[in-house]
This record gives sequence, C-alpha cells and structure tokens, in this order.
Amino acid sequence: QTQDYQTLDRQHHLHPFTDFKSLGEEGSRIITHADGVYIYDSQGSRILDGMAGLWCVNLGYGRQELVDAATEQMQQLPYYNNFFKTTHPPAVKLAAKLSELAPEHINHVFFTGSGSEANDTVLRMIRRYWAIKGKPEKQWVISRENGYHGSTVAGMSLGGMAPMHDQGGPCVPGITHICQPYWFGEGRDMSQESFGKQCAQALEEQILALGEDKVAAFIAEPVQGAGGAIIPPDSYWPAVKEVLAKYDILLIADEVICGFGRLGEWFGSTHYGLKPDLMPIAKGLSSGYLPIGAVLVGDRVADTLIEDGGEFFHGFTYSGHPVCAAVALKNLELLESERVVEKVRDELGPYLAKRWQELAEHPLVGEARSLGLIGALEIVADKSTGERFDKSLSAGNLCRDLCFESGLVMRSVGDTMVISPPLTITCDEIDELVSKARLALDKIAEKLAI
Ligand code: PLP
Repeated sequence: QTQDYQTLDRQHHLHPFTDFKSLGEEGSRIITHADGVYIYDSQGSRILDGMAGLWCVNLGYGRQELVDAATEQMQQLPYYNNFFKTTHPPAVKLAAKLSELAPEHINHVFFTGSGSEANDTVLRMIRRYWAIKGKPEKQWVISRENGYHGSTVAGMSLGGMAPMHDQGGPCVPGITHICQPYWFGEGRDMSQESFGKQCAQALEEQILALGEDKVAAFIAEPVQGAGGAIIPPDSYWPAVKEVLAKYDILLIADEVICGFGRLGEWFGSTHYGLKPDLMPIAKGLSSGYLPIGAVLVGDRVADTLIEDGGEFFHGFTYSGHPVCAAVALKNLELLESERVVEKVRDELGPYLAKRWQELAEHPLVGEARSLGLIGALEIVADKSTGERFDKSLSAGNLCRDLCFESGLVMRSVGDTMVISPPLTITCDEIDELVSKARLALDKIAEKLAI
C-alpha cells in the first residue's frame, strides 16, 4: 500500500517547497495517523513530531473535542459568509474571544483563511490607513532578510527569503528588507547587546534613506521562525520600538508562529512588551486542525478604518468560515482551561531550556538556544571558531534525515536545526526529543569523522 501511495504521489502530486524531481528517487513518507506528540507512517514507525506539523499543532494530535466541535458546526451551519452585513455565531464569538485574549489596545479582528492571506490583508490595511490619514506618501514597508510572511505574492514580497524572490519575482513594489537580528550567524564579533542595537540602528538608517515620512510600517516576527528560530538579543526590540515611535511607523508583529503559547505567552509580542498595530495570526489559532487565519487590528487602525474608511474592498470566501471558527474557539477554550500557555512559560519552557543547553556541549554544536517551546541548534565544523561544514556536505539535511530515522522530526534551515513541538509535550517526551537529537549529532560526527 505504501508503494501504491508513493506511485500516485509521484504521478500526480506537486508538493509545496519540494524539488518535484526528487520525489522520483525515494518516494514520500506517508503519514497515516497521529496521537499526542507522535505521528505514525504507513510502515508503522512512530515519530515524535518535534515541529508540531508546521509549527501549528499546539494542542497536539487526536483531540476529540476539536473533532466534535467541527462535527456539530458542520451539522448546524457548514458554510456561510461574513460579507456585507451577514455573519454567524462562530465568527462573532471567535472575534470577541480573540479581542479578549489580545493586548488591551486590540479589539477588532479580520478573518482570513491562512497566514499568507493575513499578511496580504495587512498590506491592504496599512495602505488604506495612511491614505485615509491623508498621508499616501507613506508607502514603504520595511521587513527583514530571511523573515517569512507567507507564499502568496504579497507574502513572499514581505518575506525576506532570497530563493523565493529569485523564483517568484518581480515582487510587490514598496517593500525593502534590512538585516535580521541573528547574532550567531551575523554578529558574533560583538556582544549580543551591541548587535541588537546595531540591527535597530539599521532600521533607522533605512528609514532615513527612504525618507522619514515615506515609511508606512515595519513587519517582523517576534522570534523569526522559518528563518531558523532566531531569538533576538534582549536589546533589539526596545531599540526598535523607540525608532518606530520616533518616525510614527506602524508595527506589524507577525504572530503566525509565536501566537498561542509558543513563547510562553498568548502572543510573542507580550513576551517582548510590544504594542503592535496589527498582528497576523494563523496556525496555532486552530492548532492546525482546520485552516484559519486572521489579522488582529489595534484601535488606532481599526477606528480609522471604521470611522473614515467607507467600504473596505477586501475579503475571502472563507473569511471566518463557521466550521474553522468553531474549531478555533474550542481550541482556545482548551488552551485556556488546560493552562497550556502558563505551563509553557513556567514548566516546559524552562525544562526544555535546561535540557537543550546540554546539547551545547556537543562537539558539533556552536549554539543551542530556546525560548518557550521553540529552539535551534547551530551545527558547526569547528566549535571554537563557529566555522560551518562545507555546504556540499549538507550537514543540516543529514541531521534532519538521521533524526527522522531515529523517530524524531526536526527541521533544517541550512545547518541550523529547529524544533517547535506541540505545547502539550511532557517532560519525558522532551527528554526523548533531546536524546534523539543527540543521537543524530553523534551519528553525523561519526559519518563526517569529527
Ligand atoms: N507568517 C509566518 C511567520 C509563518 O511562519 C507562516 C507560515 O509558516 C506564514 C506567515 C504563512 O502562513 P500560511 O502558510 O498559513 O499561509
């Protein structure tokens, strides 16, 4: 049966972010079911999902409550839209619940079907906002190299992933990228503190280069996820906040990964004391059980759009889809009643940090970092200098494959290994994750004869 699936897959299925031809060689791994933090493949292997799918299955797999919420809503009202002047209870209740959970200055929600659509919506909103304010010259959006904001044309353009720009260009005009606060990769010749400040200074320099009244917004993930779990130095966000306030520039905190407990707070922005004007969200909003995204809109933008904006010509067929909204609502209820976010902050995050740090002793690890339940390992050839392995060895991909063989999903971003497990992981399962990661590192050391 596995082979049948692999054959059909090869013949008909174009996978996202995949070299299509590579499927011809080995065939895909067929995942058949999942429970808790484990996924199972068609060969019967049990694999600890250290990535929570794609950073999204925050509550873990197999939650019957979410299945029941979907079933009930399917029976009651499987679809209706929120266009014009209609809506339905799940969308209204979810908007109210998100407003309650969000920082105090955020009281409105615009629903989308995904994180990419949320970022497209953000771009539409900020342009509209400044036009209504009589400042249409505020057009530029500053983003960061290696940031990820989605795969639509606007999402790709906002993001700073070079291969996407190379293949997908021309990008949406009016978007520019500055350095990322990636201390291990780009700033090790100075202290973390100085590097964080230097990155914020780069923001100010870019603003001045573009024209101080020409910049509409700065977009960033509180912790950069797909770029390699890049946790900024403590000095970074306070300095960025100051720059944005100085030039009256909107802050968009992309919470698609950081939202819903990943950093041990409901939103990553809370961890860093940010007051974003707009927060795109998705993924953990429904724990990935159904596709749904949204933009949380702060009062400053919402009041302007509502009072002076007239009709906003924007929306998606599945904006606030009732079944997705019902599942998201139940997901939030469970995250709350099971105190999942608090547990990440007080128990699981500190436990992971302690165990993860032990891997920093490994001869192949240049840095082990984590915050809440997101973390990364930097694989290096020379621990004392931080020098990387030759690219042709693909040490990161090797590590990813060895992890998979020993029953652990980790993601490789170049030679940075990333984890982002379900937030319902236990301390014993964290132990298992860490020992499997160590095993993979040992095997690489053996293979590459370190
Ligand atoms: N923003 C961030 C920070 C993400 O990590 C992602 C997806 O990984 C997106 C946006 C895009 O979300 P989606 O894949 O749901 O369109």
